[in-house]
Amino acid sequence: MAERQTPAIVLTVREYGEADLMVNFLTPGYGSLTGIAKHARKSRRRFAHCLEPLSRVVFFLSPRSGRDLEFLQKGELVRSFPALRRDLKRLGAAAILAEVAGLMAGPPEAYQEIFAALEEALGLLDQGSPPDSLLPAFLLHLLGLGGYRPRLHQCGVCGQEPAPPLNFSLPRGGMFCGACRNDAPGPLLPLSPGAWKLLRLAQDLPRDKLSRLRFPPPQRDQSLTIFKAFLRYHLGKDLKSWSFWEKVTRANG
Ligand SMILES: [Zn+2]
Repeated sequence: MAERQTPAIVLTVREYGEADLMVNFLTPGYGSLTGIAKHARKSRRRFAHCLEPLSRVVFFLSPRSGRDLEFLQKGELVRSFPALRRDLKRLGAAAILAEVAGLMAGPPEAYQEIFAALEEALGLLDQGSPPDSLLPAFLLHLLGLGGYRPRLHQCGVCGQEPAPPLNFSLPRGGMFCGACRNDAPGPLLPLSPGAWKLLRLAQDLPRDKLSRLRFPPPQRDQSLTIFKAFLRYHLGKDLKSWSFWEKVTRANG
């Protein structure tokens, strides 16, 4: 049986046993996979520059398909996004997008789109797209692909375009008018009309137009606050990458 190969984006790498590395990676064909790179800590030859988080690589997997665990035979680096790695904010945005992409188990037919969206976001960040705008736009896009598409266009009670003061319901993942809030399932978070309009636009745009959007800091922060709370509510935990983003944002504005 021939070995299998797959495009991959490395999500996390950690030590495993005496000499091995355990690698979590995203693929367009199988979603998120975990594999063991045997002896990779002693000899990196088979994986030259391939075991860095966020690298776009090709992995060669052993013929036998482990149900839970793959065995990585070797890897080839395709793109390492070096400019992204030199900028802490871009790195922070990329880390959140990668973590969310890995968590969006999604329907299998969405795997390819989730992979393509993450690869495009990393490429844009590497080319200098502003992380403040790219992060909320692509986060919203990934949530939609993974089956968590927020309902931004109509109020969940009256069905009309939501009228301010606007509320976002965490359990519903949707908007509610100020006047309808008593019938909305809480917890509810406020959303300014400016942030709401930007998010609605981001949801309507095709992926290749998302990098045109600009989120000023207040709209960025409000959008990310909602996504953070929404993910915590539905995943039952915080993303590991939020605290890094929050730290570099506090330091850099
Ligand atoms: Zn309403």
